[in-house]
Amino acid sequence: MKYLGNGRVIVASAVIILGIWSGIRHRMEMASSAAAVLLPARGGDTTLVLDAGHGGEDGGAVSLTGIPESGINLSIVLRMEQLLAFCGDPPLLLRREDRSIHAPEARTLREKKISDLHMRVAMVEAQENAVLLSVHQNSYPNSQKRCHGAQVFYGKVEGSQVLAEQTQALLRSTLDPENRREAKPIPDSVYLMDQVTCPAVLVECGFLSDPQEEALLRTERYQTELAMVLTAAWLQETADGRLNQGGYPIQ
Ligand SMILES: [Zn+2]
Repeated sequence: MKYLGNGRVIVASAVIILGIWSGIRHRMEMASSAAAVLLPARGGDTTLVLDAGHGGEDGGAVSLTGIPESGINLSIVLRMEQLLAFCGDPPLLLRREDRSIHAPEARTLREKKISDLHMRVAMVEAQENAVLLSVHQNSYPNSQKRCHGAQVFYGKVEGSQVLAEQTQALLRSTLDPENRREAKPIPDSVYLMDQVTCPAVLVECGFLSDPQEEALLRTERYQTELAMVLTAAWLQETADGRLNQGGYPIQ
């Protein structure tokens, strides 16, 4: 199917999401019909690989009320899996449970962490035509000024920046109009993002150190909204054909 306007893809995603999360059968049927009409067929065989950051003994950043980011990351990713499966675009998840993905011979916490990162890279690299979306939560507890708002980072591989910018713009326009953050290159020190050879984006969904944002991030409703937006940004990119037809725009 030919290109459909961005607005139509977002509308289609919103209709689907309404159906899924309302739990009302006739809305599901309506959403399904709308998806068939509005969503473009995928023009390629790109697979979105969803990485819920951390897991198991490595909880990542801890929120003001003591909740580790690993659980919030997983909750958002599992919601995205449902949305994408419904859209006929099933993702690959690097983890679906609260666990680290280390090799059995890793013993210490450090060994497990290193092994976990190596395994994640290997899983992404094993997937043909992958695009990586890594989901994390931010924290900056000792700042004098208020730090809040989602921030999207991109890897070095062509296609990463355009998806990151699209995602950042959609997060701003749908969830947080006050967020003035721009998509940024990821530092080399983020191992997974640095090592993969596919387009890659990392989303820090918000700050667990900010009382207002932490309260939002703990709610299922906001986790669902984040999943919706990240899903819609991905669908929009694939609809635009920039990630699955080899036709990346010149930056
Ligand atoms: Zn993290």
